[in-house]
Amino acid sequence: MFPTLSGAKRRLLDFVYPPHCAHCHRYGKWLCDDCAAELPAKRQFWPCLVCGKAKSQHAVCSSCQQHSALQGVFILGRYDGILKQTLHQLKYDFVTALAPILATALADRLKLDPLFHKLLQSHPLLLSVPLHQERLKWRGFNQSELLATCLCALLTELPLAHGLTRTRPTETQMELERQHRFGNVNNAFDYHGEPLGGKNILLLDDVSTTGATLMTCAKVLKTAGAESVWGIVLAHGEP
Ligand SMILES: [Zn+2]
Ligand SMILES: [Zn+2]
Repeated sequence: MFPTLSGAKRRLLDFVYPPHCAHCHRYGKWLCDDCAAELPAKRQFWPCLVCGKAKSQHAVCSSCQQHSALQGVFILGRYDGILKQTLHQLKYDFVTALAPILATALADRLKLDPLFHKLLQSHPLLLSVPLHQERLKWRGFNQSELLATCLCALLTELPLAHGLTRTRPTETQMELERQHRFGNVNNAFDYHGEPLGGKNILLLDDVSTTGATLMTCAKVLKTAGAESVWGIVLAHGEP
């Protein structure tokens, strides 16, 4: 929480608002080790974001992969329970100290995935889904960028890239019906970063539901020359 505070101010803040687990409220850490261990999903397969039918490990089935801008998504867990509570504390109670804890759980999960290892060998770039300036001003930080920065610190072979921007404010995807989510984010992103020709891109967002945001960003990145685009999300599912 409040990463810019000096040591003395932080100690005072810890005294009046001591760290306690986002889920079980035990004092000591913003997420205790027992609750952190519950973050990764037990399930292995997710419904395809494109056809909604076939299940696959990375949420885009093999037949849809051939015509989808987004090749698949690496998912830590379902958007419920501890993960939902923890993300809520990060985003709406501004407990930024949760970002490195969540990124550690994500990195541990990614390290177990052979496909992720294969992608890492191709020297991919990590980008995060941007917030619009208005939302960024309100929150003071972009949670996806913060998580991406923490993830890159843990996976040192993965460089963080910039240049993806949100050109207009959009409604929060979760507050919209499924059929309106693609329209909401359509033409909402732009890329003006380093050349992406032939690069594999990993695109981090905190939560995905229909995958509309990831898919729309993937199209922009493919137009900018990306070879392939893979999503990485902390949580996937309906609110
Ligand atoms: Zn706990
Ligand atoms: Zn499919």
